Amino acid sequence: MSETDLLAVDGVSAAYGKVVALREISLVVRPGEIVAILGANGAGKTTLLNAISGVLPITAGRIHFAGQRIDGRKPWQLSRLGISHVPEGREIFPAMTVEANLKIVDAFGGGPTFGVADILDMFPRLKERLTQNAGSLSGGEQQMLAIGRGLMARPRLVLFDEPSLGLSPFFTKFVLGAIADLRRKGISTLLVEQNMRAALKIADRAYVLRVGSLVRQGSARDIAAAPDIQEAYLGA
Ligand code: ATP
Repeated sequence: MSETDLLAVDGVSAAYGKVVALREISLVVRPGEIVAILGANGAGKTTLLNAISGVLPITAGRIHFAGQRIDGRKPWQLSRLGISHVPEGREIFPAMTVEANLKIVDAFGGGPTFGVADILDMFPRLKERLTQNAGSLSGGEQQMLAIGRGLMARPRLVLFDEPSLGLSPFFTKFVLGAIADLRRKGISTLLVEQNMRAALKIADRAYVLRVGSLVRQGSARDIAAAPDIQEAYLGA
């Protein structure tokens, strides 16, 4: 890792029982970058985000964030350090209102401050649904709420797991556009996306995972232009 890296994952392995899901992964995210993690189903993308956010213990390697060693810490401790995890499946509280879902978040991450009004500016569709239970929102609206919740924690780094999953092309564009805008606030992003073409459009750099190992890395432009990547992942 170098001193300018915000996140440095160094030789990290993780397993589910005897099944090794990540093998000696090393990657970095620099301040203000959007970094995409690409790979087929089962490649280990979700596992990687869970290992970084402390949801899953790692079996080898080290993880540093903003110069501090963070592997072994609990998810809530990492949230307070400035890492926000917006998981696949969203994990909002369905029986609480949209507003309560936003307000319940601990805002100790040390990144830019977001109030409820800022989230509503970003996602105006949530405005008229503020007093509605979150469980009654559409998939796209739930995704917006999950992102809003992640931002209320004042993160410096957001880990997004498949933010476009189940969304229409319109919502996908809207949600990924909102993620791209975070860069202007200085927030860094690690983005796992099934929609690789769309992810590579907003990413600065990308890493490709194959059955638990990193097999490629490069600028998003180079990765998107590589014939083998186009053939394997982009449907060329
Ligand atoms: P997808 O795009 O399908 O979500 P992924 O790249 O995110 O895939 P992971 O969900 O990280 O992949 O899974 C990596 C490997 O670990 C897979 O072989 C998967 O079957 C296995 N795995 C994931 N979660 C568990 C679990 N809780 N117990 C056992 N094995 C698991």
